[in-house]
Amino acid sequence: MTSEKCLFCSMNKKEIKVDFVYEDEHAFAIRDINPQAPTHILIIPRQHVDNISKLDDKAIMGSLFHTTARIADQENLTKSGFRLVVNTGDDGGQTVHHLHIHLLGGRSLTWPPG
Ligand code: AMP
Ligand code: ZN
Repeated sequence: MTSEKCLFCSMNKKEIKVDFVYEDEHAFAIRDINPQAPTHILIIPRQHVDNISKLDDKAIMGSLFHTTARIADQENLTKSGFRLVVNTGDDGGQTVHHLHIHLLGGRSLTWPPG
């Protein structure tokens, strides 16, 4: 998918109006429109990368995970715990082909996932 047709690129360019839970020069975060837990936030790099298999820049995920942990703390999830998910490709259930981390928390999550 080209970045012009990408939902998260459109949000990044502010072509689609969405509330950012967090933003800096590298990433932004939004609340998932279809939450799977009381807290369900997507942490999204500003740079378009289709998924983790297409990632060339090693620094992106380090920065993104660091940001995610800060957002989890802001959401008071550090003590109770939380889950991070990176759906990748068809079997991974990826529906938006712009790399992102799901932050899920606020309830006890079961394992294994469906
Ligand atoms: P994935 O299925 O891992 O690619 O995750 C994409 C996520 O984006 C899904 O959990 C969707 O619910 C979420 N999503 C799709 N459209 C929007 C939107 N307009 N605003 C917020 N979240 C969205
Ligand atoms: Zn994109």
